[in-house]
Amino acid sequence: MTSFSVDEKGFYGSFGGAFIPEMLYPNVEELRLKYLDIINEPSFQKEWRDLLKDYVGRPTPLYLAKRLSEKYNTTVYLKREDLCHTGAHKVNNTLGQILLAKRLGKTRIIAETGAGQHGVATATACALMGMQCIIYMGEVDIERQAPNVQRMKLLGAEVRSATCGSKTLKDATNEAMRDWISNPEDTHYIIGSVVGPHPFPDLVARFQSIISEEIIKQLTEKTGKPDPDYVIACVGGGSNAAGAFYHYYDRSAVQLIAVEAAGHGLHSGFSAATTALGKPGVLHGSRTLLMQTEDGQIVEPHSISAGLDYPGIGPVHAHLFASGRAKFFSITDQEALNGVKTLSRLEGIIPALESAHAIAVLDYLKPEKHEIVVVNLSGRGDKDMNTYMKHEAFFNS
Ligand SMILES: *Cc1c(COP(=O)(O)O)cnc(C)c1O
Repeated sequence: MTSFSVDEKGFYGSFGGAFIPEMLYPNVEELRLKYLDIINEPSFQKEWRDLLKDYVGRPTPLYLAKRLSEKYNTTVYLKREDLCHTGAHKVNNTLGQILLAKRLGKTRIIAETGAGQHGVATATACALMGMQCIIYMGEVDIERQAPNVQRMKLLGAEVRSATCGSKTLKDATNEAMRDWISNPEDTHYIIGSVVGPHPFPDLVARFQSIISEEIIKQLTEKTGKPDPDYVIACVGGGSNAAGAFYHYYDRSAVQLIAVEAAGHGLHSGFSAATTALGKPGVLHGSRTLLMQTEDGQIVEPHSISAGLDYPGIGPVHAHLFASGRAKFFSITDQEALNGVKTLSRLEGIIPALESAHAIAVLDYLKPEKHEIVVVNLSGRGDKDMNTYMKHEAFFNS
């Protein structure tokens, strides 16, 4: 237990909780009462960790990036979540949740997805476990993210189009909620980040905490000390960051750096920098910081990276921000593209656009020569090649 763990009521400081329609209460309550006992069982831990090792390819390397370190005149290690099966950290969580669903006696999985990355990670876990999989996705996103839709279908998932409202992520979320309310007995809803009503933020953080568990071990082996000076991660909903920070919450010498998307610029009206621009409110079942108008309407976010294009953040991050335990930066679309180019040219690693935000913050952080920095490289860039090709002139120069 740390002061950044969830309390019995599901709160992180004044953020979190479970603000849900009464119809959803039985589903969420079943999960709340059972999740800790199930995931702490030795047989659960063994099955999950065996899959992480042999199926996902964990532990992911902690790689000393020498040329990147040279450029910034410091020591930078990259935590290589980009090498996970399916190309990002999301699978750590979907595998954990599917094993939990099985032990709850569920046979049917639903999820919602925006860019499709969480949909693919969920469909992957369902194929592996032979579970029925239904992914809700906004009609507009289905068009924008055709390759991921094809991946989900190839993996055996049914993709259902949400045709209401703006036909994007929040509409898909509403459809998934409705489905869960109608199918409380046999269905588990896999949420993809540290968002949603309690206990989801805690559940997802526990599964992603494997990242900092490994960093501590690997850094000790490499440097003789478990603690770096900085841990840096990008924040969409905040699951890769929560995982990279988790075992460092109470080690106050370690500075936690969260990086949000500034889009076209903080004050351009096109960004997703929630802590810089947001105010407390309720989104997707929890009290958190979110981008909203004076009268409480959600502001449509913008980021070049689909994974950071979210108007809120998980409640634990709202608490890390409000308490000052983590420092938040924001990085523009152009700065993120610079980060992509830097890492590709210096290390031969093409990062996901989300992860490139975490690389780009090194320009602002300016670590000292003797300091040690760990950057959580949440995913690889294959999925973003279409965007990179649109900026061909920039990348070819
Ligand atoms: C989805 C995604 C993110 C953002 O999600 P978090 O829950 O904030 O981690 C970041 N990086 C990659 C590569 C992603 O696919």
